[in-house]
Amino acid sequence: MALLMVFIPLTIQTEHKQRRCVMACIEYIYSVSALVGSGICNGNCEFCAGKYLRPQANNNELYWKNYESAIKLSARYGGWSLSLTSSGEPTCDPKSITKALEIYQKCAAQGAYFPNVNLFTNGILFGDEHFCETWLPHWKRLGLSNIAVSIHSIDESKQACAYGISQYPHFETIFENIQKYGIGLRCTLLLRRGGIENVSTYKEAVHTLTNIYGVNNITSWPIGNPDGSRNEFTPSRIGIASIRLWLKKNTKFCHGHIWGGGVYDYNGNILRLTDYVTRHNPKKDFVRQLVVFQDGTVAYSWIREGALCMK
Ligand code: SF4
Repeated sequence: MALLMVFIPLTIQTEHKQRRCVMACIEYIYSVSALVGSGICNGNCEFCAGKYLRPQANNNELYWKNYESAIKLSARYGGWSLSLTSSGEPTCDPKSITKALEIYQKCAAQGAYFPNVNLFTNGILFGDEHFCETWLPHWKRLGLSNIAVSIHSIDESKQACAYGISQYPHFETIFENIQKYGIGLRCTLLLRRGGIENVSTYKEAVHTLTNIYGVNNITSWPIGNPDGSRNEFTPSRIGIASIRLWLKKNTKFCHGHIWGGGVYDYNGNILRLTDYVTRHNPKKDFVRQLVVFQDGTVAYSWIREGALCMK
């Protein structure tokens, strides 16, 4: 009888392990990315990957309810990062950023705290001192920890050209305006054919940002289609490989991302190279990010097909 009592649980355990090999349970949800705002943009990029989502940009009640649930769910599964982004430029609808941060603040007070709360932006409005004075102190109080400015070129006229505008504010002004309010500054180098596309253009951008502007936290990824596939703006595979090789030879590897890419220490600065999007794999036990779409859908990745979480 004693033998049987031992034997049965072992059998169940073995079956359980076998099942896990075929279909994993989610153990980690590392972050939340939420689309906010009206979808309006003060840029007009040729390669915009967000335009197709603009018809959904209305932030209805279901959206806000599921946004809050996504934050709480990710926090419970080890999440450490909330990113606010948009199908347009989020700062063009600053009230929606305030509302998103207010809900985050409520979640944080209930225990769903994220050490990183990031706002992704093209940076244009942060060149305006009055705009910064109006919104940044309030957003900082509500928990915003970092602003990530997307960079296509460290040449301001080429940056303007990439954004389809006549003039881009000085980088120095944008960076100073953000840091003045005690908010962390990150730059996102968008790797793009004809722009920052290989080791020489990448090195030049990193050196300018770190040595001239004092930026010490730089992320980069190659741009592509919303489904993660390559398009005419994606840099060549050789170009990306040359950047990886340079990172390998000239930095200290800090840690890898389970979904690909990693974080490097370059003379005391953080460099991160990752992928544009990660397709959800139901056989893996992790989710890179929950994505909160403005029709209220929460998905396990930017590619919604086969990745639905909440409706
Ligand atoms: S700034 Fe961003 S949202 Fe606006 S057009 Fe360019 S890529 Fe699209």
